Amino acid sequence: MAEEIVVGFIGLGTMGGKMATNIQKAGYRVIVHDLHRQSASLHLQAGAEWADTPRALAERSEVIFTSLPAPADVEHVALGADGLIEGVKKGTVFFDLSTNSQAVVKKIHDAFAAKGAQMLDAPVSGGPSGAASRKMAIWVGGDKASYDRYKPVLDAMGDRPAYIGQIGTATVAKLVHNMSGYAIACALAETFTMGVKAGVDPVSLWEAVRQGVGGRRLTFDGLLEQFLPGKYDPPNFTLKLATKDVSLATALGHELGVPMRICNLAHAEMIEACNRGWEGRDSRVVMLLQEERASVKIAADPERVRRAAERAKSSA
Ligand code: NAD
Repeated sequence: MAEEIVVGFIGLGTMGGKMATNIQKAGYRVIVHDLHRQSASLHLQAGAEWADTPRALAERSEVIFTSLPAPADVEHVALGADGLIEGVKKGTVFFDLSTNSQAVVKKIHDAFAAKGAQMLDAPVSGGPSGAASRKMAIWVGGDKASYDRYKPVLDAMGDRPAYIGQIGTATVAKLVHNMSGYAIACALAETFTMGVKAGVDPVSLWEAVRQGVGGRRLTFDGLLEQFLPGKYDPPNFTLKLATKDVSLATALGHELGVPMRICNLAHAEMIEACNRGWEGRDSRVVMLLQEERASVKIAADPERVRRAAERAKSSA
C-alpha cells in the first residue's frame, strides 16, 4: 500500500521537485532534503517531512531517490560526511535519478552492497514537462528484485520505467541518448543556417523537411521549442548540465578506446558556449554559435511555430 512505504527524496530542483510531488500525489509518505530548504516549500506544505541531512533522511526511509546535478554531488550525498551510507539499513533501496557517471554509480553501488543495501542507477528522460506530466522514461540498472519491489513508486513518477540490466547499464543508455541529441543538434544548426541563408523562411523550411523521411522519424521536432523561436530562457535543461552529460559520454568513449570525432566536436561547441557565459541558459543555446558564424539570425514568431507543429501532428 502506498502509505506504508516511506520514500526519501533529495534534490528538489527542476526535475526532482516535480517527481517528488508526483510521489506525494500517489499517496506515499515522503521525507525530503535539499541544499536549499525553500526548494521543498511546496512539498512541506503538501505534508512532506523535512530531514536535515541525507543521513537523517536515510535513517527514516525505506526507499530513497536523488535527483542531483553532477556525479560529485551524488557521491557527496551518498558517501560523504552525514551521507546516506551512514543512515541506511540492511534492505534499504536507493535509486539515483541523476545523470551520473558509470564509475561513480558502481562505486556507490559497492559501498551500499557492503551494508546490505541496494543502489540502482535510474536516469530519466522527459524534461521538466515530462517530470510534471509523468511522460518520462526512467531507465533502471541494478538489482532486479529491488526494481520490481519499488516499480509502483517509479510508476508514480514516469509512464515508462524500464529495467535495462546490471548496475551502470541505465547510465550508459542515458549517455547514449543525450550524446546523440547534442551531436544531432550541432549538425542541425549547420544545415538549418545553410537553408535559411539560402533564402528559405525557417518555419517553412521546418514544415518542408518535416514531411520527408527524416522528418517523419521526428528528427527535426527538437527544433520547435528553442531553436526556431530563438528562445533559450528560461532553461528547460541548462547548458551547464547538458555539457556535463556530453563530457561524461565522451570520457566514456575515451576510456573504452572508442573514436567519437563528431561527439568531441559537439563537446567543444558546448564548452565554447559555456565560455560565453551561457551556462544557465537552455542547452540548445549552443546552436547560436553557428548562427553567429553563419551570420544568420533565427527567431520565428512562436505562434507560427506552434501552428506548424500542430499541422505536422495532425497530418501524421
Ligand atoms: P537542478 O539544478 O534544477 O536541481 C538540482 C537540485 O539538487 C537543486 O534543488 C539543488 O539545490 C540540489 N542539490 C545540489 N547539491 C545538493 C546537495 N549536496 N545536497 C542536497 N541537495 C543538493 O537540476 P535538474 O535540471 O533538476 O537536474 C537534476 C538531474 O537530472 C541532473 O543530473 C540532470 O542531468 C538530470 N536531468 C535533467 C533534465 C532536465 O531537463 N532538467 C532531464 C533529464 C535528466
